[in-house]
Amino acid sequence: MVHEKGGLRPKEPARLEVALGFPNRYPVGMSNLGFQAVYGLLNSLEGVRCERFFLWETGVSRTLESGRSLAQFSMVAFTVPFELDYLNFLEILHRARIPALASQRKKGHPLICVGGPCAFLNPEPLAPFVDFFVVGEGESILPSLLEIFQFAGSKKEILEASVRVPGIYAPCFYQVSYLPDGRIEAIRHKPPAPDRVKRQWISDLNSCLTVSPIITPLSHFQDMCLVEAQRGCGHGCRFCAMGFIYRPVRHRSLDSLSLQIQEAKKRSQRVGLVGSAVSDLPHLEDLCLVVASHCDGLGISSLRADRLTPSLLKRLSRLGMRTITIAPEVGSERMRRVINKTVTQQDVLQTAAFAGEAGIRQLKLYFMMGLPEEREEDVVAIRTLVENIRQVPGLRKIAISVSAFVPKASTPFQWAQMMTEAELRRKMLLLAQGLRPLKGVTFAGESARRSLWQGVLAMGDRRVGQVLWHRQMEGLTWNRAWRKVGVERDFYVHRERSHREVLPWEIIDHGISKAKLWAEYMRAKSVAG
Ligand code: SF4
Repeated sequence: MVHEKGGLRPKEPARLEVALGFPNRYPVGMSNLGFQAVYGLLNSLEGVRCERFFLWETGVSRTLESGRSLAQFSMVAFTVPFELDYLNFLEILHRARIPALASQRKKGHPLICVGGPCAFLNPEPLAPFVDFFVVGEGESILPSLLEIFQFAGSKKEILEASVRVPGIYAPCFYQVSYLPDGRIEAIRHKPPAPDRVKRQWISDLNSCLTVSPIITPLSHFQDMCLVEAQRGCGHGCRFCAMGFIYRPVRHRSLDSLSLQIQEAKKRSQRVGLVGSAVSDLPHLEDLCLVVASHCDGLGISSLRADRLTPSLLKRLSRLGMRTITIAPEVGSERMRRVINKTVTQQDVLQTAAFAGEAGIRQLKLYFMMGLPEEREEDVVAIRTLVENIRQVPGLRKIAISVSAFVPKASTPFQWAQMMTEAELRRKMLLLAQGLRPLKGVTFAGESARRSLWQGVLAMGDRRVGQVLWHRQMEGLTWNRAWRKVGVERDFYVHRERSHREVLPWEIIDHGISKAKLWAEYMRAKSVAG
């Protein structure tokens, strides 16, 4: 594309041609470092040529580089970071005239592969459509997987060879049976597939370079080049998938980061540091000096309030940061104990004060609503906290963003239920009205309906995939699609699961036992008071 800077020239000819897609619009996909990193990785592999596709406005499913239809590739791979993109995923296959159901695809159709956080959180709603999922970090799985693809024969042979690769989950090797009340009875596997698929990760982050290979003014970050700073987070907030599915925590060394920044500089004067817990980097202040010596600007997604010192904030301010984002998540100390967020009110207020002194003018604050054990007074406590922050001199604007709690697989809150739509709406409104009189404060709340739908997809099983299929491919209304499959939406989001229940995503092994997660869930209840 003319506006793209950097970029890779896909090799020609190649033994394996992969179309790599993001199930959303071009600007969203190009803002995702994970997607860009896989694109770079695939094109660096011997004998592999990779082209990109997105959910195009034009209504076609073709690749960006050569304009070929997806059906012409041997493999169509997707990076899927958000559950709400599942319908887009189906739409893309439909437009490419590739049968969505894996069981209906014949010889000559491409193999469909999915990676990204959704693949190793809960892949089950996509299981009916996908030949195999990449469970874990691409760098540790893709080279051996693609080796098989280049040399193996029929689809059956490829799948049988793939499931021997650690981190590959092929749903057709697993049979799910259900109890009369709708819960899962058992998940049975067929050899050579393992009973559980172990998530894979690379031990030495410094061994690979993760910098956006392409920058485009159309991405959400415009001309900023994204650089991965670290992976994983050790804080273990009980609702947060990032704290559980990217373990162990790995920070890049200062040398590795300096190298990445020099690489980023070839494309842009502004770099954005990406990671679940960038403020935990032991050398973040030194890194600011490195950025200052090479580039003009720095961006960081979100910072922890208990990690920000006055000197760090001054450095960030000198690098042009006028807004910092922190996530107190809740307003009361009681709820902080429930979710295991160890940042205190004092930390948040102190950070706001340091930020104001450092010349940072805007504070963005993320909160959550509808968490387990939440009470009315906890919503009021958010307003009180914001009011106190507003007294801090120097800050001009406080932007409040509130999302609804969505239980995530493989976290201690995976057994919890969601609040009803009416209750979520009522609480959002209560907070919005409470904040309205506060000058300089803006409020943005996530839609309750959208969040519940996300919850269904996050906690769903293969039957939710069937519902998606009836809705998207047969054009049924949602109600008719649910009835046809014989399950109800509320079954997935409005009931607390028991410890003994077989959960749809138990096929995925993150190395943390169910007993340990359950103990954490019980701890949350016991500290709720
Ligand atoms: S919410 Fe933030 S601090 Fe807590 S586990 Fe997730 S990434 Fe870490």
